Amino acid sequence: MLTAVVGINWGDEGKGRMVDLFSAQHDVVIRYQGGNNAGHTVVNDRGKFVLNLLPSGIAREGVVNVMGPGMVIDLEHLSHEAAALREKGVSITPDDLKISDRATICMPYHRMMDVLEEDRLGDKKFGSTRRGIGPVYADKYTKKTLRMGDLLYPEELPEKVAALVEWKNITVKGYGHEPVDAGEMLRWLETWAYPWRDFVCDTGEYLSGMADRGHDLLFEAQLGALRDIDFGIYPYTSSSSTLAAYAPIGAGIPSRRLDKVIGIMKAYSSCVGEGPFVCEFFGAEADRLREAGAEYGAATGRPRRVGGFDVVASRYGVKMQGATELALTKLDVLSGWEQIPVCTAYELDGKIIRNFPAETLLARAKPVYETREGFGGDISSCRRFEDLPEAARNYVLWLEEAVNCPIRWVSVGPGREEYFTR
Ligand code: GDP
Repeated sequence: MLTAVVGINWGDEGKGRMVDLFSAQHDVVIRYQGGNNAGHTVVNDRGKFVLNLLPSGIAREGVVNVMGPGMVIDLEHLSHEAAALREKGVSITPDDLKISDRATICMPYHRMMDVLEEDRLGDKKFGSTRRGIGPVYADKYTKKTLRMGDLLYPEELPEKVAALVEWKNITVKGYGHEPVDAGEMLRWLETWAYPWRDFVCDTGEYLSGMADRGHDLLFEAQLGALRDIDFGIYPYTSSSSTLAAYAPIGAGIPSRRLDKVIGIMKAYSSCVGEGPFVCEFFGAEADRLREAGAEYGAATGRPRRVGGFDVVASRYGVKMQGATELALTKLDVLSGWEQIPVCTAYELDGKIIRNFPAETLLARAKPVYETREGFGGDISSCRRFEDLPEAARNYVLWLEEAVNCPIRWVSVGPGREEYFTR
């Protein structure tokens, strides 16, 4: 069985926590896009882990984790992330982690370019995490990057690195910055990249073999549908495809079909960075929701923008992901609101619209709010749908109908056991 777990919204839906849960029934967990520009938080019996690059199955014994060819990998960051996990007793060896020979290496100068460009943009910045993800994907498509497989042929690296750096310095000069030094980049590779050489393999071959032998594969997306490079809120998107349809490609098995797409959808909205966010709350209402939901970026610590559940955006997310079922997260965060504001449509130039528009129109859209009956009390101990207060049950049923997809899991807290199925 091939299952993808993907974000329905702007990211930060709680995918990491759900993948950790689902990983118990899977043999392999695969990250297929993105880099260390977002974070997944997993809380389990070994503690709390923030994973930026490693697949969320890493904290579970017996699960093999794969970083696919669709990823961009900063090996310095990966080394620190792995060290923090190993300190907590997590095993990270070539047996439980495999890195695609076709994955792209994110170099220190990609990070530098990200910072230079965001600073140049000033007030008009995109809200990049400044970790080099946009620049390294740009170089990938310009065909000017190193891939993990290059590490296996170190004798060829001085020439390759010199050529890349020579080209990169044309742009660096334009920013008035001192040029990148090829020797320094080679030393960086020796320090941070060489230790990962034993993990490099053809992940497509590995995954095809596992699928053929009937193993269950779980594809883990980073960010959400609204951050997809093609279908998201461009240019406030990520630089990769966050959609389930990309999972087989980004994992290295493009000819395989997914059997299931589980969309992770949050009970309200949150968004990191800039760009139109129609359902946004402001002032005291926003502070209340942000504090209750601990809405601060896992990768950057930035306060997230928050808002009511957005039916227009979420229905679009469900459609673009091709979600076959949903996991609803953070329902507990809404406890205590007498009335829950929800955005059910947008008003655009005096007309009511229910389809999610492209960015130029989106920037002019205004939210149409309704309220749903709120609920109170601590619902984090509920382990059956029937245990929820009636208004909470009605909210779940209403969401399910609003986005037209069954909600099979409801998460009522960050802990591994704080959820139920229905
Ligand atoms: P991801 O990138 O989609 O994995 O999301 P993040 O990890 O950035 O954000 C999700 C945050 O919400 C993490 O801190 C989780 O531990 C937490 N979380 C996940 N599910 C729930 C839930 O149902 N209730 C509460 N209160 N927190 C949750």
